[in-house]
Formats: sequence, C-alpha cells, structure tokens
Amino acid sequence: MFELSAEHLAVQEQVRAFAQREIEPIVKEIDETGRFPSDIVAKLGAEGYLGHPLPKKYGGTGKGYLAAAVTYEEIGRVCSSIRGFIAVQLGLVSMCIHDWGTEEQKQRYLPRLTAGKIIGCYSLTEKNAGSDVANMETVATPDGDHFVINGQKVWITNANFADVAILFASVDRSKRHRGITAFLIEKGTPGFNPAHQKYKSLGHRAMDHGTINLQNCRVHKSQVLGEVGGGFRVAMGALDHGRLGVAAGCLGVAQACLDACVKFANARVQFGQPIAEFQMIQKTIADIAVETEAARLLTYRAAAQKDAGKKNTRETSMAKLYASEAASRAASNAVTLHGSYGYSNENPVERYYRDIKGSEIYEGTSYIQRIIIARDALGIRKLNQ
Ligand SMILES: Cc1cc2nc3c(=O)[nH]c(=O)nc-3n(C[C@H](O)[C@H](O)[C@H](O)COP(=O)(O)OP(=O)(O)OC[C@H]3O[C@@H](n4cnc5c(N)ncnc54)[C@H](O)[C@@H]3O)c2cc1C
Repeated sequence: MFELSAEHLAVQEQVRAFAQREIEPIVKEIDETGRFPSDIVAKLGAEGYLGHPLPKKYGGTGKGYLAAAVTYEEIGRVCSSIRGFIAVQLGLVSMCIHDWGTEEQKQRYLPRLTAGKIIGCYSLTEKNAGSDVANMETVATPDGDHFVINGQKVWITNANFADVAILFASVDRSKRHRGITAFLIEKGTPGFNPAHQKYKSLGHRAMDHGTINLQNCRVHKSQVLGEVGGGFRVAMGALDHGRLGVAAGCLGVAQACLDACVKFANARVQFGQPIAEFQMIQKTIADIAVETEAARLLTYRAAAQKDAGKKNTRETSMAKLYASEAASRAASNAVTLHGSYGYSNENPVERYYRDIKGSEIYEGTSYIQRIIIARDALGIRKLNQ
C-alpha cells in the first residue's frame, strides 16, 4: 500500500483545510494559556473526525482506520494537544466501547461521543501502576447488584471535562491482571471526583491531564464494560486503537518539522548564502525526510491492517515506537537547525520539541513497545501472562 486512494486523499485535503482554518489561528494561544478549546469538540464531531472507523449506525462515517490515521496526521501537524484529544476520545474511548460494549452501552454513548456532544476519558494509570497495569490499587468491591470503587487515577487526559470515563479497577488484587474490570462511569456519580493536577506538563499544554479520586463510588453491574475480570483485555485492546492515533499524530509532527526546516533553510542567510546550501543542513533535512516517510509507511500499513481486520498489535506498536522516536529526533534537529530562532516560541518548532516527548511515554513507553515487539519476534509470552 504505497498510495492513498482518492477517497483518502479527499479526507486528507479536507482535514488539512480544517486544521488551517480552525486550529492554526489559536494554536499558539492555547499552548501559552493552557486553555482546552472545548468549542473545537463539536466541530470535530460535525466533520466526522471523531468517528471514521465506526459504523454509521453509531454515528461514525464508516471510512475506516486509514481515514482516521490521515486525520490524526493532519491535525497533529498543527496541534498535538487537539490530536491527543481525538486519540483519547476516538481511539481509547469510542473504539473501546464499540469493541466491548453491550448494544445498550453502544447506543447510549457512541452517537454522542462521535458527534462531539459528550467527552470521554480513559482512566488506567495510577501512582504505583503505570507500565505495570496489573499492580493497580483501585479496587471494586461487589455489593449486591453494585460495585463500590475506591482508589485514585493520575494523568488522565480529559479528566475534568469528561462526561463518561472508562475506568479500570480490580475486583481481586491477588489475581493481578485477571482481577481487572472496566467500568463506564458518568460525571456526577457520587464518589467520582476529578481534579486538576498540581504540576505543569512539558508539552500538550492545551490538554487537561487530571486525577480522579474514587471514594465509595457506587456503580451498577450494568456499567461493567466487557466481563468482570476481563478488563485487562479491554485496556490492551483500547491501546491498540489509541497507539495508531499516537503514531499518526507523531507522523504529522515530523512532517511539520520537515516543512519548517525547509522554509527556514531557504530563507536564512549566513556566510552570504542560504543555509540550505550547506551540506550539514542538507543532511539534517534528508534524515528528517527519510524518517518521516518511513514513519508514514509503518503507520499507514498498521491502519490498513486494521481496515482488513487483521491482527495488528505488533504493527501498531512498531508504528507508535518508530513514529514517536523519529518525530522526537526531527523536532530536536529542527530546533538546532533554526538556531536561536528555534529556541523561543516565535517559531513553532520549540512547541513540537516539547509536545513530542510525551508520545514516547503515554500509551506504553518506548521501552514497553520494544518489549511487545521483541516478545512477538522471540515467540515468548506476553507481559502479565
Ligand atoms: C501527556 C500524557 C497523557 C497521558 N494520558 C493518560 C490517559 O489518558 N489515561 C491513562 O490511563 N494514562 C495516561 N497517561 C499515563 C501514561 O500512560 C503513563 O505515564 C505510562 O504508561 C507510563 O507509566 P509511568 O509514568 O507510571 O512510568 P513507569 O511505568 O513507572 O515507568 C518508568 C520507566 O521505567 C520503564 N519501565 C517500566 N517497566 C519496564 C519494563 N518491564 N522493562 C523496561 N522498562 C520498564 C518505563 O519505560 C519508563 O522509562 C498519560 C501520560 C502523559 C505523559
């Protein structure tokens, strides 16, 4: 698969125009102020960007994963915060409900999530359970037809805006990953308390990253997503979707770095000539161009495999690992290539540099992606099994 189809090219053109019109004018301001532009959510929904892989009966466009990848790429090229929002809303929340929800749960949430009428969050990480998900300390104690949840989640994107959370808790900590259960919990449920994090983050500053405190939060058994004790598979399945969004968003950042470097290298004159004439500058631009293209091929292939209904955990991990690290190198080199002009927010490359680091951490760090890929290559058992 080396070329996008006419349909995918049309999606690309439409999203590119949208990002220029709706996001580019505010991107610097929302990064500086840390404001999440909540009015963008309904616009993303109206354009269909929150539902490309979902069937029309749930409010999706049915255009598939490659259309979603192209969307993430074009939004990521302009703003990693808004791209990150889509990856959570669509990849981690809607796709997860689609894969594991009952018909009633799908009907209740998916049409509104895809339309951008409600916001979702995915609540897995805890202070003592990041990569080691099975060590989670949040517990769900059965009580008749209900579960009573206690614990705390950290680093939850959209926590303070979310109308519905997919939240993971253990019904039996001694069972490690086999005790984990996924719940759908709505805003306003007593004992479900989101809060803002104390610290400012390096990048993705226009996104909300919050904590969620659970104090005797009572949820009905009908709010279990998937099976009791089956939450680990739900969590990992969601990450398979989310990682495509991360990979494609990073690809967009790498492309943005390339575009910025080409423009600057042609315009900046030193020693009586544009710096584009210097071979060291050309080497930097060639490296960014090659790695961007390699990231694109890995990402599009992972998306195409999803569209074909093939197993793709390995391919999606590869795309996420490579694209995030390639974009990190591209952003670092872009700052250097711009000299002091790249070191202030006069130029967007400093934002690319700050934003991109998170993509090597969330949805499984680069080390965890390497473990997934190596275990697959070596044929050894998966983490936590
Ligand atoms: C911007 C941002 C947004 C986020 N959004 C969300 C969200 O919406 N929902 C959510 O649930 N979480 C979210 N997270 C949390 C994120 O998923 C975790 O930070 C991530 O999984 C890593 O966990 P940790 O930070 O606890 O690091 P740790 O797991 O403590 O890892 C620390 C270091 O040890 C390494 N390490 C850990 N285990 C191994 C191993 N077995 N072998 C080798 N090295 C290992 C890691 O690679 C890392 O370098 C977000 C994080 C960020 C930064």
